[in-house]
Amino acid sequence: MNIIAKKAKSKGRGKSPQLWKNYDIKDGRAVLKNKKCPKCKKLLANMKNRIYCGGCGYTEIKKV
Ligand SMILES: [Zn+2]
Repeated sequence: MNIIAKKAKSKGRGKSPQLWKNYDIKDGRAVLKNKKCPKCKKLLANMKNRIYCGGCGYTEIKKV
């Protein structure tokens, strides 16, 4: 039982800040910052110079 609790804790700790990076707080509401994948509708990961879909591998280069 202890092992399961420990595992869930360590997994959640690393995951939630990642998730909140995708949101902006506007007027007290969380607004989604990222675009969605045009292919599989998953959330695109925001990277330094590109956005990337972990689902299908779709990549879009950011124009700076
Ligand atoms: Zn995709």
